[in-house]
Amino acid sequence: MQVKEKTGTKTGKDFIRAIIDEDLKTNKYGGRVHTRFPPEPNGYLHIGHAKSICLNFGIAEEYNGLCNLRFDDTNPSKEDVEYVNSIIEDVRWLGYDWGDRLYYASDYFEQLYQYAIELIKMGKAYVCDLTPEQIREYRGTLTEPGKESPYRNRSVEENLDLFRRMRAGEFPDASRVLRAKIDMASPNLNMRDPVMYRILHAEHHRTGNKWCIYPLYDFTHCLSDSIERITHSICTLEFEDHRPLYDWFLDQLGVYHPQQIEFARLNLSYTVLSKRKLTQLVDEGYVTGWDDPRMPTLAGLRRRGYTPEAIRDFCDRIGVAKRDSIVDIALLEHCLRVDLNRRAPRALAVLKPLRVVIENYPEDRVEELEAINNPEDMSMGTRKVPFSRVLYIERDDFMENPPKKFYRLAPGREVRLRYAFFIKCVDVVKDPVTGEVTELRCIYDPETRGGAAPDGRKVKATLHWVSARHAIDAEVRIYDHLFTVPDPAGSKDSDFKDFINPDSLVTLKHCKLEPGLRKARPGDIYQFERQGYFCVDVKDSTHERLVFNRAVALRDTWAKIMKKQARSTG
Ligand code: ATP
Ligand code: MG
Repeated sequence: MQVKEKTGTKTGKDFIRAIIDEDLKTNKYGGRVHTRFPPEPNGYLHIGHAKSICLNFGIAEEYNGLCNLRFDDTNPSKEDVEYVNSIIEDVRWLGYDWGDRLYYASDYFEQLYQYAIELIKMGKAYVCDLTPEQIREYRGTLTEPGKESPYRNRSVEENLDLFRRMRAGEFPDASRVLRAKIDMASPNLNMRDPVMYRILHAEHHRTGNKWCIYPLYDFTHCLSDSIERITHSICTLEFEDHRPLYDWFLDQLGVYHPQQIEFARLNLSYTVLSKRKLTQLVDEGYVTGWDDPRMPTLAGLRRRGYTPEAIRDFCDRIGVAKRDSIVDIALLEHCLRVDLNRRAPRALAVLKPLRVVIENYPEDRVEELEAINNPEDMSMGTRKVPFSRVLYIERDDFMENPPKKFYRLAPGREVRLRYAFFIKCVDVVKDPVTGEVTELRCIYDPETRGGAAPDGRKVKATLHWVSARHAIDAEVRIYDHLFTVPDPAGSKDSDFKDFINPDSLVTLKHCKLEPGLRKARPGDIYQFERQGYFCVDVKDSTHERLVFNRAVALRDTWAKIMKKQARSTG
């Protein structure tokens, strides 16, 4: 797997910005920069789309230009207003603004129809009665030229009449198409008389039943760009072979001509970024929906606790290139940590509680201890956390028979409780049947309040804790990668769903949180000390039952990878 890192952003421009600089120098578009983001509303946006959004809207911002949001809504059978609305919400959430330039390709259907008529009149388009299978057969292959359709030389009059009747609804679905008359021997298969219009009696989410013929992507896209006077039409590499067709339609019609530029799409390890595959995960119930926090969709990432700042930083760091690669998901997680470390308030939360009784602490006493809200930003102040005789600590922070490198709590050993006291384990209580440790008996040293011993003695570990009487209960959902292999879609011999991680969600139902978290609202994000960043779930969390999603653990694998690389190259 290839891992790419670009840290020093804005040093040395990428190739797209270099093209734009050159066009500005030669005054190609009269000094204008006008881009667009053209999603098809057939699914939710994912992190790959974010790369395209940041690129298109980012370029518009940098060059004092404009960027349109345009729905490429030419396939009514797969599209839906739910997707339209989610896309609008997601682009806005990322922090971009299209002003009053929200467009739909379907708004251009009449104009596109007129352009098609023009091409027919020029003898550059014809109605073809071959079946879809025949069209495929006639197209030929990369090594063999195609064969001309027997309908290719229909008269202009006949073509005009048939196309008009296609529009009028006289013919059944797929019985005829309108094709561009280009070159059946072209080495580029896209130029072998591509289909421009198909018959589809389907209701469109915007135009209703007005149309029963729908234009295809290649015909629609270039002309929509032209109508909106886009200067740079930025798209992903798979459209490189479509560029001659993009140019052909515009040249034949002699209309305003934007420049198509292709860049490598984002691939991310341990996930899939194809709407078709993501749709499958949703429809077949592998996840709970498009906004499942394990999904690489913007809706899923947001629910998980990702911030727009972290995603924009990620897109900035990966940059744009001409060659496909897989970006390590650890980089995305790293960007989130960097952002949340600065901003997220800290909290004490015990995910797998183990009861601790401080034998020498009075039954009815409660002390309020001062805790720092964010050591990275002292302006966030401090708070009080209650301490009492019965506490919870993390079950994993105790071992009855600790191996050599385990420095946390063990029988006879002393550790520090964060913001509180030193405690020492004096006894272990077990379930008589299972042998499971159910409680620790400890003593505390009142002289160590605040976390230091006056006699200067040291401890090797600091644990988080909560007071049992004051703790609030919560459910915490721990997420791992959705797939067990870096490139789940990369194998031809197996289905990507074979690699779904069965442990991608672990639900902890009996977590204990410091009482201050009672004020946490859906979408709020905290750092649970020593564990990670956690976001209050916007769907399932209620007043009675708090539910947190783990956005990301504290341990930074990306920072580790970078350190290792620096060592080996440095
Ligand atoms: P899919 O191929 O997954 O079904 P799509 O790429 O066709 O989806 P669109 O709605 O057409 O989805 O995409 C809108 C824009 O986002 C296009 O310009 C497309 O090139 C870009 N885009 C889509 N996926 C990625 C990606 N992984 N990385 C960068 N840009 C992307
Ligand atoms: Mg597309």
